[in-house]
Amino acid sequence: MIDLRSDTVTQPTEAMRRAMASAELGDDVLGEDPTVSALEALAAEITGKEAALLVPSGTMANLISLLTHCGRGEEVILGDQAHIFFYEQGGSASVGGIHPRTVPNQTDGTMALNVVRDSIRADDPHFPRTRLIAVENTHNRCSGSPLPPSYLQAVAGLAAEHDLAVHMDGARIFNAAAALNVSVADLARPVDSLSFCLSKGLSAPIGSLVCGRRDFIQQARRNRKVLGGGMRQAGIIAAAGLVALREMTDRLVDDHRNARRLAEGLSAMRRAHLDPARVQTNIVYVDLDPEGASAAETVARLTDEGVQVGATGAHQFRAVTHYGITGDDIEKALKSFARVLA
Ligand SMILES: *Cc1c(COP(=O)(O)O)cnc(C)c1O
Repeated sequence: MIDLRSDTVTQPTEAMRRAMASAELGDDVLGEDPTVSALEALAAEITGKEAALLVPSGTMANLISLLTHCGRGEEVILGDQAHIFFYEQGGSASVGGIHPRTVPNQTDGTMALNVVRDSIRADDPHFPRTRLIAVENTHNRCSGSPLPPSYLQAVAGLAAEHDLAVHMDGARIFNAAAALNVSVADLARPVDSLSFCLSKGLSAPIGSLVCGRRDFIQQARRNRKVLGGGMRQAGIIAAAGLVALREMTDRLVDDHRNARRLAEGLSAMRRAHLDPARVQTNIVYVDLDPEGASAAETVARLTDEGVQVGATGAHQFRAVTHYGITGDDIEKALKSFARVLA
C-alpha cells in the first residue's frame, strides 16, 4: 500500500527511536526535563524567537496561541480555508470565546490585504474588538502554497498600523522554507507567534512547538496547563523532536520533487483536474468531474489499486508526499491512478 493520505502517517526514524530510548528525563511541568528544554531552545533558535513551548499537537499549539493573543469576545481575522477555521472544531470559539472573522483565501493561500484592512473593526460598541490576524504557511487547503517573507511583512505592517498581533500556523513551515529557499527565521521574523509540527513531514511521532516572545510563551505555558497539555517526562517526545529538527528538514525537497512529479503525471489523466504549477510543496489536490464518480468512490477504487489518498470534498481528493515515499513509489502510484482516472 502506498499511503498518500497525509504526512502525519510518517513513522519515527531509527535515530528517533534510539534517542527516545536513551533520553535524559525530568518533570517538565516543574521545568526539569533537560531534553524538552533543549528542544524548546533549538526551536527558538531556528525560528529566531525568544522562547518556545512544546505541546502535544498542532491543534493545541494554535488554540494556545489564539488564547494567549485574544480574550473572550475579541476577534481573529483569518482565511476562510484556514486549518484553524476548518479543522480545529472551532476550538478558539468554543473554548476561548474568540470570534472568527473569515476573509477569502486566494488560490496562493494569501488573503488580499485590502480585504483584511477592511475587516479590521472600528472602535464601536456594536463590534467585537479585532485583536489578531492569523496566516497559514504552507497553506494546507490552498495547494500547500508557501507564503513568502514579502507577504508576511506586508501583513505585519498592516497589523502594526492597527495595533494587532499576527500568528502564523506554520504546521509545515519547514516545507515553506525549503520551497522558497529562505530560512525559517526569515519567515518567522514578521510574525509575533508561530506554531509548527514535528509530526508531519519531519516524521516525529508527537509534538508541536509554539514560538514567540518570552512573556508570550510564559502565558502560553499557563494556557497549556489549563488545557491539560502539561506533560511530565515529555523528554521522550522531545528527543524525537530534536532528531527531527537536526536531521529531517533538508530532505523535504525530495517530497516536493515527488509531489511535482505526481501532479504532472495526474494532470495528463482525463478525469483528474489540477494545475501542476501550483504544487510547490508536498500537497497535491485533484478535482474530479462533478458528474463522474464521487471522491469517496474514487478513493475506494484507488485503495483497491494499492494507493491511499484522502477525500477533501465531494469531488476532490488530496495526495501528500512524505518520508518513506520514494520516486519509485510515485511511478507505481501513477500507474494505479491511471487505471482509475485515465
Ligand atoms: C495538521 C495541521 C494542523 C494541526 O496539527 P495536529 O497535530 O494534527 O493537531 C494545524 N495546521 C495545519 C495547517 C495543519 O496542516
